[in-house]
Amino acid sequence: MRPFRYHRPAGVAEAVALLDAAPDGAYLAGGTNLVDLMKLGVQRPDLLVDVNRLALDTVDPLPDGGLRIGATVRNSDLAAHPLVRQHQPMLSRALLAGASGQLRNMATTAGNLLQRTRCVYFQDTGRACNKREPGAGCAALHGQNRDLAILDWSEACVATHPSDLAVALVALDAVVEAYEPDGPREVPVTELHRSPGAHPERETTLARGALITAVRVPPLPFATRSTYVKVRDRASFAFAVGSVAAALDLAGDIVRDVRLAYGAVAHRPWRAYRAEEALRGRPFTAELAAQAADAELAAARPLHHNAFKVPLIRNITVRALTDLAGPVNR
Ligand code: SF4
Repeated sequence: MRPFRYHRPAGVAEAVALLDAAPDGAYLAGGTNLVDLMKLGVQRPDLLVDVNRLALDTVDPLPDGGLRIGATVRNSDLAAHPLVRQHQPMLSRALLAGASGQLRNMATTAGNLLQRTRCVYFQDTGRACNKREPGAGCAALHGQNRDLAILDWSEACVATHPSDLAVALVALDAVVEAYEPDGPREVPVTELHRSPGAHPERETTLARGALITAVRVPPLPFATRSTYVKVRDRASFAFAVGSVAAALDLAGDIVRDVRLAYGAVAHRPWRAYRAEEALRGRPFTAELAAQAADAELAAARPLHHNAFKVPLIRNITVRALTDLAGPVNR
């Protein structure tokens, strides 16, 4: 591992100034992803700015009924928070579907959003990877790509974003509060992560050195009727093969409103706007849910090993929505 300096700043402004002056530096919070990548030689920071003591670790109700989640709130604490469990159960379920209990005790809200892809070629410094080394090529494009993208990939990168939490936050129209070298900034989570394009090494729309300080979840009354369905290769401690975050608002059997987002299908958590549009205002049936998923997945371009993800996502969309609708609407 490359030797590095370690600094524990007294405040957010100092943390950002430190990283702004250190192009090869990184923030350290839970360290559950960063430290692994440092051991593998994938990330080689020369400075770690430890943000664990910046008092960013509370969950606060907002006057409008929303929630403000501090950047270093641990995943376990957020999943168990009574307001989250009551008002946004999809958030709690997404968190509990991710990692192990020990990792959730360490991993933070902001770190979860900013975690790196689990593409095996990215983690192997002996293989070509444009994300790790721009211009090197992409070993996954014609390699083992079963777990990778079906939507919005580019010739430069076919990786997926691994976060479960981010999928739920995208569905809930959450907003990231960040502090950049130029000052405070807010970014909707739907606009936080980039498509890979020609520059997959650029993963977010935040400025270099930005520190996420909180995530704001706006009020959404029908999110009390929400869920997160994740398919993975084993019962515990595995990244998603495919996932869906869903919230459903029915008036009788008519879909008054709906939120849908997909995980493990693209370089960013995928808000399924086309599927939502296909559902709104119509009588809910399982067939309608399948048609809505098909509308979203019409843009899918599966890779050599992952065409199965298209029916998988369709099926878990139907499962999530029919579970939320209840037995009379199946
Ligand atoms: Fe690297 Fe992306 Fe290709 Fe994986 S898919 S090898 S992360 S460029």
